[in-house]
Amino acid sequence: MCIFCKIVNKEVSNNTVHESEHFLAFHDLYPKAPIHVLIIPKQHVDCFQNVSGETMSALTEFTQEVATKIGVDKTGYRLITNNGDDGGQEVNHLHFHLLGGGKLPWDHSHEDSLKSL
Ligand code: 5GP
Ligand code: ZN
Repeated sequence: MCIFCKIVNKEVSNNTVHESEHFLAFHDLYPKAPIHVLIIPKQHVDCFQNVSGETMSALTEFTQEVATKIGVDKTGYRLITNNGDDGGQEVNHLHFHLLGGGKLPWDHSHEDSLKSL
């Protein structure tokens, strides 16, 4: 069983932000921004490439609720999902990183470095 399934099953503790029947939002153990929340479907789906549109539709609404609950719905935030090896995905259970709590850097110089891949 993957680590996020263990969190859903309460075999591994977490700091829950918001929960519904189908989704869970909890603080990332190693935050990369003042606010760093992970949003997951409770049912195991390995990555974005394999998630249904139906689940994503419901996940959109849940994510908007999370943003409102933690107070970044007006100030703004960033949503990221890493998909697969090249995307840098480390936990193979679909999750969205919700980052916020300040003006997040967006370094356009990185775009040039990507061209040389
Ligand atoms: P990925 O690199 O797969 O997109 O992101 C995985 C994220 O999960 C990382 O930001 C990492 O800090 C977080 N993470 C890994 N294990 C745990 C855990 O046991 N608990 C929590 N709350 N976060 C975790
Ligand atoms: Zn899982």
